[in-house]
Formats: sequence, structure tokens, C-alpha cells
Amino acid sequence: MAEGLADIGMIGLAVMGSNLAQNIERNGFTVAVWNRDPKRVDDFMATVGAGRKFIGAHTPEDFVKSLARPRKVMLLVKAGEATDWTIEQIKPYLEPGDIIIDGGNALYHDTIRREQALRAAGLHFVGCGVSGGEEGALWGPSLMPGGAREAYEQLRPIFEAIAAKVDDGPCVTYIGPNGAGHFVKMVHNGIEYGDMQLIAEAYDLLKRVGKLTAMELAAVFAAWNEGVLKSFLIEITAQIFRAIDPETNQPLVELVLDKAGQKGTGKWTSETALDLGVPVPTIQAAIDARVLSAMKEERVAASQVIVGPPTSPESLDQGDFIVLVHNALYASKICSYAQGMALLATASRVYDWNLDLGEISRIWKGGCIIRAQFLDKIKQAYQRRPDLPNLLLDPDFNQWMTDTQTSWRSVVSIGALAGVPLPAMSASLAYFDSYRTATLPQNLTQAQRDFFGSHTYERVDKPEAGFIHTEWKQLI
Ligand code: NAP
Repeated sequence: MAEGLADIGMIGLAVMGSNLAQNIERNGFTVAVWNRDPKRVDDFMATVGAGRKFIGAHTPEDFVKSLARPRKVMLLVKAGEATDWTIEQIKPYLEPGDIIIDGGNALYHDTIRREQALRAAGLHFVGCGVSGGEEGALWGPSLMPGGAREAYEQLRPIFEAIAAKVDDGPCVTYIGPNGAGHFVKMVHNGIEYGDMQLIAEAYDLLKRVGKLTAMELAAVFAAWNEGVLKSFLIEITAQIFRAIDPETNQPLVELVLDKAGQKGTGKWTSETALDLGVPVPTIQAAIDARVLSAMKEERVAASQVIVGPPTSPESLDQGDFIVLVHNALYASKICSYAQGMALLATASRVYDWNLDLGEISRIWKGGCIIRAQFLDKIKQAYQRRPDLPNLLLDPDFNQWMTDTQTSWRSVVSIGALAGVPLPAMSASLAYFDSYRTATLPQNLTQAQRDFFGSHTYERVDKPEAGFIHTEWKQLI
């Protein structure tokens, strides 16, 4: 680095930018900071920045001037128009070869557009997914950078220093060109929706059918966190069940309003999957579940009018039921990841990204919200066979599904009989059964389409005939 200049610049000093800037500085780099509202810069410099290797700037020009060449500018601002606005503020002061990194949750189409436009101006644009929330940003996130490989190589020492570390390296890798990094982050978030919904369904079953108390749930989830389900989300779930509200002395989780929010990356995953023709029913079910949960007043009113099943399922041994739910959760989770990975594989082909699904699984093992021991098994599956068409075809996962599907089917049946909604577990099971079924009933769908709309169909006994139309009424 040239004397007195910063190694990298950070724009956007809200929680993510501030924490990531501190992480970079703690790892030995000098960081310049700028924010649209200069008060944030002053506050940052006066508090966390005091006595450390930060350079505070009040104008985009001063900010860019404080950076060593090739300049590396990371944006952690609100996704969308704010990102375009910020790029326009600094672009006039940048020179060919400089690198802009967008660490926000950008839609990958926007990243493709920005990369193309900035490349035409001789600048590199790296769309970098950052996962792990504010804690991850501060102590080690999972980073998913996409753009030109030569730009990644320039950023690599910083990224490898600040990323979370797992047994097989830092949680960062070159993802692929243009929008690949933000695409992978989007799918990560979709998978996160699926995981959270599946855990919520397991909780609902154990509470309403298994009659477990919050403290018993805490113990079950803590025990699950010692096995194949070991993950950040299972770990924090156990902790959540243990939290007692000091005012009421009740488990705090039971006082939380059951209306889930969302910021839109799950919806993007679902829309993208539809556009690319990849089924992601578990992720879709998770999004719908949040939307339905938000209809609280309507649900409360409906609960007064519509009755559920007349009888509950026969009494179950609590210990046996916990094992069944564990197996159903894990099997459903495998199906959800199979869908997410299939979406990545298809996007890789469509956009020519050459995604390495094993490496992507590896960098999700630490730092991010979906970090889990099980991602190592996914990594191994793709190492065994990089062109694996679906995770369910991997011998290890196939064996697990074979061994546990009876438990899974029982749990979904028990939920249906008890009137406990299991949208994501049922969607995973239907995905599993559809994927493994050689002959689906869509022969009838095709017949209907041809009957009412002359949409044509193909015959199984005459494939050489191609698409044909029949006047169905003449055959009746
Ligand atoms: P945020 O609320 O999403 O963004 C705040 C930053 O954006 C501030 O620097 C703000 O500047 C700037 N900004 C807001 N509106 C703007 C506009 N119209 N024009 C220009 N700048 C504008 O903060 P955040 O939660 O730290 O997130 C930053 C980025 O990281 C986002 O893209 C977010 O999606 C992504 N992300 C967040 C998380 C998380 O857990 N929070 C995790 C991963 C990724 P002022 O201070 O001047 O208002």
C-alpha cells in the first residue's frame, strides 16, 4: 500500500458496513469510510474508529483520493436505487482497473447490468453476497463474490482474511462471472427460508402433538444439535426456547406474535425458480407460510368458524415421536437443499457461470445463517460427482431417505390427522415422491390441454410421431 493510503474503502456505515469495516481493519488493513449522511462518518470515527486504521471522508472525491490503486470500494448500502446512486457518486473519480464491490442484497439481474456498464467504463464490478448478519460481518461472514476473476484475485487477501474459517479453509471462493455471487446469495436466502419453516413445523408438531414444554423443546433441539442436524439455526432455536420473559416469567417465544416478516430475497428465489423452470416447492411453501402467517386477523376470525379434525391421532410415545420428527425434519431439509442446488445448477448452465456446487457448499459451512455440518456431506456429494443432477441421487443421501422415509411419511400423516399445518414438510415429501416417480399423472393434464385448447401431446407408444392433436369428442 502507498504511504498513508487505505487498502480498501467502505461506503455505507449502517450496521453491515460498519461491522465489515471493523472486521477488515482488525485483520490488518487500513479502511477509508464514507456515508451519504456525514454524521454517520463522524460518529463512526469518534467511536469505533478512534485510534484505529480508518480514514474518514466527507465527500466521494476525498474518499476515492484516500485509496491505494487499484482502488477497492465496497458498498454496503440499501439495495436498489441507492446502489446506483452511490456508484454514480464515486464513478467520476475512479480510473480503469479500479474495483467496486457491492456487498448488499442486490437482485442478480441488477448486478449483471451494473457489471456490464462498469466494464464498458474500464471498471471492475464485483457483486458479493455477504451472509451471517451483523455478527457475521463483524467476526467472519460467508462471502460469495461474483465478477471478473482478475478482480477477485485482487480482493482475495482481504476476503480470505475477513471471512469465517472452517476446517477446509476460509468461507469465500470465486463464485463466477457477473451476477453469479448475488444469485448464489439469493438462493442461500431461499434455502434459509426453507430451513426456518421446517424447524417451525417441527416445533409446532412437538408442541401441539407431542405436548412438549419450552424447556423440553430446548433440550430436544440441543440434543439434535449434536447430530446430523447440527447447525446454527438448530442451535439458536434451542437457545430461544430457554429464554424466559422477566415480566411474565413465561417462555418469551410464546409471547412473540406469529406474523413473520420478509425482505424479499425468498420471493426473488421463488420468482427466479419459476423463470428458470426449476421446482422449489419447499422454499415456495416457506414463503407462502410467512404470507399466510401475516394474515393474523383473518386467521383468528376463521378459527372461530372453521373446525379442524374431529379426533386427534392416537396417543404416541413422546420419545418415539421426537425421533420421527427428527427424521422428518432432516429428510425434508435434504429435499429443500436438493431444490436449491438444482436451481444453482440450472442457472449455471443458463448463464454460463460454471458454478462449483461443492465449493459453494463448503463456503456455506461457516459464517452464514444456514451454516451446518450437513453442508460437508453436500460438498462431498458434489466432489464425488460434480455433475450430479440432483442431491437425492447421491448414494449417501439416497440411503438416508430410504432408511427414514417411513418416519417422514408418518409425521406428515400425523400432522394431517391432527390438523397441524406442515406446508414445507409436505412439499418436500411431494417433491421426493414426484422426483422418484417414473410415470406421473400429467398424461391426463396433457389430454385436458389438448381437449380444450388443441395444445397437442406426445404418445408414449409412438415417440417418432412428435406432437399430435386429437379431436377427443370424436372418440367418445
Ligand atoms: P440498510 O438500512 O440496508 O442501508 C443503510 C445504508 O444505505 C446507509 O449507509 C444509508 O445511508 C444508505 N442508503 C439508504 N437509502 C439510500 C438512498 N436512497 N441513497 C443512498 N444511500 C442510501 O443497512 P444494512 O442493514 O447495514 O444493510 C446494508 C446492505 O447489506 C443492504 O443491501 C442489505 O440488504 C445487505 N445485507 C444486510 C444484512 C443484515 O443482516 N442487515 C445481511 C446481509 C446483507 P444514510 O446513512 O445516509 O441513510
